[in-house]
Amino acid sequence: MVKDRVLNNFQLSEHFKLYEFECPHCEAVKVTPKLIEVLERFRELTGNEPCVITSGYRCYYQNRKVGGARESRHLYGDAVDIRIWRYLERMTFEELARLALEAGFTYVAMEDDHLHADVRPLLPGQKPKIDDLRRKGVYE
Ligand SMILES: [Zn+2]
Ligand SMILES: [Zn+2]
Repeated sequence: MVKDRVLNNFQLSEHFKLYEFECPHCEAVKVTPKLIEVLERFRELTGNEPCVITSGYRCYYQNRKVGGARESRHLYGDAVDIRIWRYLERMTFEELARLALEAGFTYVAMEDDHLHADVRPLLPGQKPKIDDLRRKGVYE
């Protein structure tokens, strides 16, 4: 997959390496401990299927380039986009999104070909939620 890589090639947790979260444009990376903790739980809840991250941290340039929301959580290092096709062989997109909430993500969006999940801080009275952004042309 990634060959002869030195930069960011170390184990953050049992199943994730730092480079999996880096910005594809500049290799800068930010990851919050909470994100890793919740991702490990998500992995467990989904049957220990390898969890492939298609987007982790994004710098401003990259976020603009991919059409991300202006205040996307990817800019803060507490969001991931997860490849879904493997999971969808066993469950619906809605079921997968619910497992993400159960794992501890505070915002989950079903997007066209991936699941967006983040651990944004909630304001008092706010609850974790799932949005369906498929075919909306909006990306968190
Ligand atoms: Zn970048
Ligand atoms: Zn996203």
